[in-house]
Amino acid sequence: MSSMIKGIAASAGIAIAKSFRLEHPDLTVEKQTISDKDAEIKRFEEAINQSKDELEVIKNRANEELGEDKAAIFSAHLLVLSDPELLNPIKDKISSESVNAEFALQEVANMFITMFEGMDNEYMAERAADIRDVTKRVLAHLLGVTISNPSMISEEVIIIAEDLTPSDTAQLNRKYVKGFTTDIGGRTSHSAIMARSMEIPAVVGTKAVTSTIQNGVMVIVDGLDGDVIVDPSEEVLAQYRQKKEQYEAQKAEWAKLKNEKTVTSDGEHVELAANIGTPEDVKGVLENGGEAIGLYRTEFLYMGRDQLPTEEEQFDAYKTVLEKMEGKPVVVRTLDIGGDKELPYLNLPKELNPFLGFRAIRLCLEEQDIFRTQLRALLRASTFGNLKIMFPMIATLDEFRQAKAILMEEKEKLVASGTAVSDSIEIGIMVEIPSTAVLADQFAKEVDFFSIGTNDLIQYTMAADRMNERVSYLYQPYSPSILRLVSMVIEAAHKEGKWAGMCGEMAGDTIAIPILLGLGLDEFSMSATSILPARTQIKKLSKAEIASNKEKILSMSTTEEVVEFIKANYMN
Ligand code: PEP
Ligand code: MG
Repeated sequence: MSSMIKGIAASAGIAIAKSFRLEHPDLTVEKQTISDKDAEIKRFEEAINQSKDELEVIKNRANEELGEDKAAIFSAHLLVLSDPELLNPIKDKISSESVNAEFALQEVANMFITMFEGMDNEYMAERAADIRDVTKRVLAHLLGVTISNPSMISEEVIIIAEDLTPSDTAQLNRKYVKGFTTDIGGRTSHSAIMARSMEIPAVVGTKAVTSTIQNGVMVIVDGLDGDVIVDPSEEVLAQYRQKKEQYEAQKAEWAKLKNEKTVTSDGEHVELAANIGTPEDVKGVLENGGEAIGLYRTEFLYMGRDQLPTEEEQFDAYKTVLEKMEGKPVVVRTLDIGGDKELPYLNLPKELNPFLGFRAIRLCLEEQDIFRTQLRALLRASTFGNLKIMFPMIATLDEFRQAKAILMEEKEKLVASGTAVSDSIEIGIMVEIPSTAVLADQFAKEVDFFSIGTNDLIQYTMAADRMNERVSYLYQPYSPSILRLVSMVIEAAHKEGKWAGMCGEMAGDTIAIPILLGLGLDEFSMSATSILPARTQIKKLSKAEIASNKEKILSMSTTEEVVEFIKANYMN
């Protein structure tokens, strides 16, 4: 029997495929005293053998699908599972202390991990990562739970998950993952943002998909209207295939504007840029007629792996993006880790309020090795295109000054060592903390540009967690409070002859676009798939006419009033 689940439309498009449940099982281990030591050791050995069999299968598949390079990691894992130096101490612990296999495994593995990580040696850090991965696999067998591996999916599927971490999302293989749907999350959670840049249809915040959908069931994800249809009848399937075709036709219509500049009906040019998470996303930017990259979220380079990316790896990624963009502007944001973007290998303590905690520039100013490595990679890549650098989560001028001083120090060192560095890198900040928006007139004297990060600016202004669907009604981009802040930032920039862009999701929102145009925003950076619809919309609007209503809009008192006015005057 077909059924429909409602959620939040997070990434446009229609996907139809069989379901694949992505599970993150609880691997918490408790210490237990056991009476039959031999049986416990046997149970441990069985779990090792099951893990080996499983790894052999994964390794062979990885070899075929991803190549030898990627498969090598699984050979390393297999070696760990045959290493007596790891296995014997675990068995000894089971017999000498009469403890359960799970506990003995975790204790011994943790001891090796801590020891290897403390050696400050890349090779040993990799071994620690191997042991961590392998331990999880064996633990899952001992506990009788399943771990799913999204990177190994090899047929067309729709992912069903409670939540997808950004790192899960980064590992999804676009060839096979046709769509996804989650219980939790909102339009601005990072898995939703990534789905849009990967052009994978998605519906999030459904509250119900994991409790309703089993593995292998036919599912439709309607990312246009936010619906998930489970086990559709032939009739419903036909209906959605038609809707999919219509959407494709609409996309073809938009595509006609691909090579055009974005000019309003009264002849004003605004820049339509794209947000990306990985170098692979550049393809979609160019296909969708992006005039620039307004936000490269570099943190995804640090995710879905076990250790920090090296300077060389980063240099390659930045250079690739700059070269592919062929001289068009590329705004790279320095590492913005924290909030919902975790890096387990940094072993940072859990915080009560991660969105208000030790994150982004705060972390980079403290962990300067990490920051300086990234800045060097960026500076070295700067000669391959039109690079602009911006710092995330700036709350005070002092943070900006410190970050800029470190950047300048690294630049001087590179230049002194004979490395070419571009002389025209603009340095800007994200405006996503209300204190910075309010003080924009002061910041504007020192920065080259602003990029307004409304995803965070709205969550901090409204004090409403962007990940929490119960307070998602407070995500109100058209609230006059937000519009006034945005207007202040744009005016402050212009007063100092600087430009102001926006890279939060609001920049691609059809109701917000006319308002932002009237407020004088210079650059709109959005998911690549929103660019052509936005260009179509902007070409019909007169910037001067909307600007003449600026004071009227800013003096409205509610979101509803703003929406009503925009709909009545600037939508169709
Ligand atoms: C924002 O906060 O608006 C933004 C663009 O950054 P992120 O979504 O990565 O926090
Ligand atoms: Mg942000």
